[in-house]
Amino acid sequence: MTDAAISLQGLCKTYKGGKQALTDVTLDIPQGQIFGLLGPNGAGKSTTINILAGLVTKTAGKASIWGFDIDEHPRNAKRSIGIVPQEIVFDPFFTPFEMLELYAGLYGVPKKERRSMELLRAVYLDDKANAYARSLSGGMKRRLLVAKALVHNPPVLVLDEPTAGVDVELRQQLWEYVRALNARGTTVVLTTHYLQEAEELCDRIAIINHGRVIANRPTRELLAMAQEKAVTVTLDRDLATAPQAPCFEKIELKNERSVVITYSKDKVNAGEVLAALQGAGLGIVDVSTHEADLEDVFLNLTRTPAHG
Ligand code: ADP
Ligand code: MG
Repeated sequence: MTDAAISLQGLCKTYKGGKQALTDVTLDIPQGQIFGLLGPNGAGKSTTINILAGLVTKTAGKASIWGFDIDEHPRNAKRSIGIVPQEIVFDPFFTPFEMLELYAGLYGVPKKERRSMELLRAVYLDDKANAYARSLSGGMKRRLLVAKALVHNPPVLVLDEPTAGVDVELRQQLWEYVRALNARGTTVVLTTHYLQEAEELCDRIAIINHGRVIANRPTRELLAMAQEKAVTVTLDRDLATAPQAPCFEKIELKNERSVVITYSKDKVNAGEVLAALQGAGLGIVDVSTHEADLEDVFLNLTRTPAHG
């Protein structure tokens, strides 16, 4: 037992046909957080989620949900998690209300404890309670899937790429709802390939790339990694080699008349960097700066080539 909401140890998945989607994924998702599993398309996010959902069989390793090993205690593990899948699939013949009742029944939730209308209200679908599911828009269907994932009141809610096909306004409503759920104690895990989404919502972010976890830190620490700043300087004469100075983290010749200097903005400022160039006898013709953000950190971390 750990006090992690989800614990993955040495998780591996090789699909039939040989694609190795996960390699030795070890990750603890703390209780009570909004946790982001961030990675480019094809990184292995859905594979991870689908193993937890029981839809994909892992090749090796262990996974537990709310302390329940998915192999040893599959029923308890399943009851502890609600998953909103990436792909929208459900039976078009049920109304939203009927669908929630049906799933509550499958989870053994007694009639008097069901809260189908409350859930529909929460995802702004109460006016569609008795509509045909097939008449719902893409965004409505996704919100219905969120409600469906919550019928058994699980302590952990997982959303796999929740904003795919959801317009901006509904996205904000979805996030408000997710934040409110989290404030009431639900651990939320979301996968996304949108950095900004993860940055905005998540307490902690793990980055997965080519089936491996390459970072796992509080969001603010990842942001602090974005301390590097770059300045492009055009000089008054041609250079054969780039001048050096202690305050440069890195200097590269962009062409014979301009250099790109990377410096750490918590150590030096642009003035000192430029003064170092002038100190080397160079005249400055033009300057432009570029602020690193989480996007750069992400690109830096995920730039490594595929293994194997
Ligand atoms: P993500 O959700 O991060 O975009 P996935 O977990 O869906 O990534 O996919 C990870 C890798 O596994 C990809 O290379 C994908 O093509 C491959 N993959 C996913 N599902 C299958 C499958 N059913 N059979 C074979 N390969 C698959
Ligand atoms: Mg996916």
